[in-house]
Amino acid sequence: MQTKILLDEEEMPKRWYNVLADLPTPMDPPLHPQTKKPVGPEDLAVIFPMELIRQEMSPDRFIDIPEEVRDVLRLWRPSPLYRAHRLEKALKTPAKIYYKWEGVSPAGSHKPNTAVPQAYYNMKEGVERIATETGAGQWGSALAFATMLYDIECTVYMVRASYTQKPYRKSMMQVWGAECIPSPSTKTNAGRAMLEKDPDTPGSLGVAISEAVEDAATHGNTHYSLGSVLNHVCLHQTIIGLESREQLARVESYPDVVIGCVGGGSNFAGISFPFAGDKMTGKHPDVDIIAVEPASCPTLTKGLYAYDFGDEAGLTPIMKMYTLGHDFIPPSIHAGGLRYHGDSPIVSKLVHDGVMRAVSYHQTEVFDAAQTFARSEGIIVAPETSHAVKAAIDEALKCRKTGEAKTILFNASGHGNFDMSAYDAYYGGKLVDYEYPDALIRDALKRLPTVP
Ligand SMILES: *Cc1c(COP(=O)(O)O)cnc(C)c1O
Repeated sequence: MQTKILLDEEEMPKRWYNVLADLPTPMDPPLHPQTKKPVGPEDLAVIFPMELIRQEMSPDRFIDIPEEVRDVLRLWRPSPLYRAHRLEKALKTPAKIYYKWEGVSPAGSHKPNTAVPQAYYNMKEGVERIATETGAGQWGSALAFATMLYDIECTVYMVRASYTQKPYRKSMMQVWGAECIPSPSTKTNAGRAMLEKDPDTPGSLGVAISEAVEDAATHGNTHYSLGSVLNHVCLHQTIIGLESREQLARVESYPDVVIGCVGGGSNFAGISFPFAGDKMTGKHPDVDIIAVEPASCPTLTKGLYAYDFGDEAGLTPIMKMYTLGHDFIPPSIHAGGLRYHGDSPIVSKLVHDGVMRAVSYHQTEVFDAAQTFARSEGIIVAPETSHAVKAAIDEALKCRKTGEAKTILFNASGHGNFDMSAYDAYYGGKLVDYEYPDALIRDALKRLPTVP
């Protein structure tokens, strides 16, 4: 009865997998926010290093991971794949449940998988400072860790709701030497405009992105970095799925179901893209791939597949994706990392084309699932991760009904050790289940940009 399936350091993947190479139809290109023409590399060069821009648009199926980046990833990779024997027993399911454990990184989530290569390519171009946004604080702390390794300064705009709910993420950023500012702030035009509209706003990722992009675009030798959504971020995260597929192969297995939670889509992309590639190329046409999101921010399940801005102020390129509208402010639920109005354009397209599907859950039921998981497997997962746990449990319970012994793989994106205030709220009966009103979504969708 093997519990942990481990790979040696030398077995860590040497290349990322680029799912763009295996799409049956091409992506709709991102458009310039003013001209509405497809963006070119030169438009992005103000805020991103050239190598990341190249990766963003690359048609190559595999992209080499620099040896210097693998040297850092070695600190915690390859991450373990666990067979959840105790959870299976607790659920009395014939299903086999596996989870990939990304909580072993220094920041406690999958996010350093992309923070490290992003900081590395910026260092190679001589960039001195990186500005970014963070929702729950995980991305800010991951980038703080990565920039520290390469002596780059780091400024993090942190969504105010999380800044107050999760003060220790801010402390981690401080330990690693970054500056953390609650957003909206008075430092940028975008922040000041938002504060004027609503001084008590909990903030949103959309606003924080506007602030960080404005900071980078208006300061010399400062770049911007995004922790999710973009193609190159999803690319870097594919190391999760590549390792998982190899680990499952070691026990002569392949998943019937692959599950991940979705904020901007990066950890889900990471676990699922290699399997989506197998599905689209006909190697494993039947694998069921499930994206899980909060019912209070139901981008994939209730949003529109349309061109929209990535941020609130309309500074970023316009991307074709599932969106709730760029000025949609989701309620401040405890899974702060899942509060984003849009989604990765690639994940959006794959859901739209039926290669993957999406489900949504309320926060109380996902905390129930997180508790079941903690009381069987021991690990206390992040509130974001608990969405994936809930879906995995539901799939396993379906197997109990049908008697099928499916193999279920989910990504355990991070630990919840800094989220105990959310667990406190759960035990104090203070969690509220918001179903975001359809009328408000329809209203926000009226303000989508018009494109030719
Ligand atoms: C940030 C985060 C998420 C959501 O972001 P994605 O880009 O959708 O992966 C999920 N889980 C954890 C632990 C996170 O830190």
